[in-house]
Amino acid sequence: MYRIGFGVDFHQLAEGRDFWLGGVKIPHDRGAVGHSDADVLIHAICDALLGALNLGDIGVHFPNTDAAYKDIDSKILLQRSYGLVRERGYGVVNIDSTVCLEAPKIMKYADAMRGTMAEILQMGANDISIKATTTEQMGFVGRGEGLVAYATVLLERIEASGARADAGGERR
Ligand SMILES: [Zn+2]
Repeated sequence: MYRIGFGVDFHQLAEGRDFWLGGVKIPHDRGAVGHSDADVLIHAICDALLGALNLGDIGVHFPNTDAAYKDIDSKILLQRSYGLVRERGYGVVNIDSTVCLEAPKIMKYADAMRGTMAEILQMGANDISIKATTTEQMGFVGRGEGLVAYATVLLERIEASGARADAGGERR
């Protein structure tokens, strides 16, 4: 049994912030603004993992009004999102993602991002796709004011028993 999920995330960029993407710190003169470390790619993947099982979104599970998540390493959020997936007996088959940003160039860090996230998600790095695009200088991305990430994930049921298969919005 397969489930597909989609996630999207936006963050502003500002000076004085570290630039975290896919769990990797990338040198840049600006970083994403957010309650956590504002890793836009991990957040989109978390939303896709949760969405695949109709578990709500990242804001439901890790509210940005909760001081516990202030400046939190998003790899912890990815670990916890994956934990919810595993609790329901699913594993990740593959992930496809695209990051829209004007700068910096991120593709030379793609292998590091894939490796970092694959370890957390107990999957092969080759099953994580990371793509990048600019918006041809159009809009807030083109002006360097922010960045966006989109992700799709495919989950496969890997345990016959365990948590219930009805992924229909049960509240925990
Ligand atoms: Zn975010």
